[in-house]
Amino acid sequence: MPRAKFIAGNWKMYTTLEQARQLAQRVAQGVDSVLAQKVRVAVCPPFPWLLPVAEVLRGSAVALGAQDCHYEREGAYTGQVSPYMLREAGCQYVIIGHSERRHGLGESDEFLNKKLHGALRAGLHVIFCIGELLTEREANQTEQVLQRQLLGGLAGLTAEQLQQVTIAYEPVWAIGTGRVATEEQAEHAHAFVRRTIAELFGSNAAENVLIQYGGSVKPENAAGLLKQPDVDGCLVGGASLNAEAFLAILRTCL
Ligand code: PEP
Repeated sequence: MPRAKFIAGNWKMYTTLEQARQLAQRVAQGVDSVLAQKVRVAVCPPFPWLLPVAEVLRGSAVALGAQDCHYEREGAYTGQVSPYMLREAGCQYVIIGHSERRHGLGESDEFLNKKLHGALRAGLHVIFCIGELLTEREANQTEQVLQRQLLGGLAGLTAEQLQQVTIAYEPVWAIGTGRVATEEQAEHAHAFVRRTIAELFGSNAAENVLIQYGGSVKPENAAGLLKQPDVDGCLVGGASLNAEAFLAILRTCL
């Protein structure tokens, strides 16, 4: 059976409350039942907008996700957000390991692994991001980096738990730069990720795991990327802030 497509929008630290409501409304209206049968859709607004956006999305085919979480249920962690709080706020998904946190905030594979376990314990589905820097690609280290991030990030997970994880391959040099990976580069990396998952969790898990591509996805390049055999969807940053652009990306799955 072919794998489902899954496209998520990462709104990062953008939108006012009103813009967030309107964006969610337009996306929800645009994802009709025909589109919803072809593609799973989620949007990930900033933390303070989760509840109002959940309200807007109620009854629609668009799921809610958060952009990060802590690994503990509760505690003296000033400024952090528990995965259980995210569940209660209406989230089904959480992004973990985004490069803007790995490289911008120094989050390690070990730390991300703790978050992943915490999020799964809370019943969230995790979008786990991995990807190499430009220097690493140029030094022919892409596979080594992806393998390290997968081994470290997914440590201790069972094949059953992996069913609640989507991998997002996001080459760091393509995020927010307008420089998209070629279809061949994306497929090559995705196939490598799937082989690595097969080694770690078995061929059945590898066959079923969804692997999104992320990095300057736009309506103009989405179709080419999404037709690659191992590309099961996209994690969209900039273009997800524009409802028409995001919907146009979704419609390439029709
Ligand atoms: C992202 O934020 O995960 C991302 C891929 O951003 P962009 O689409 O803007 O490159």
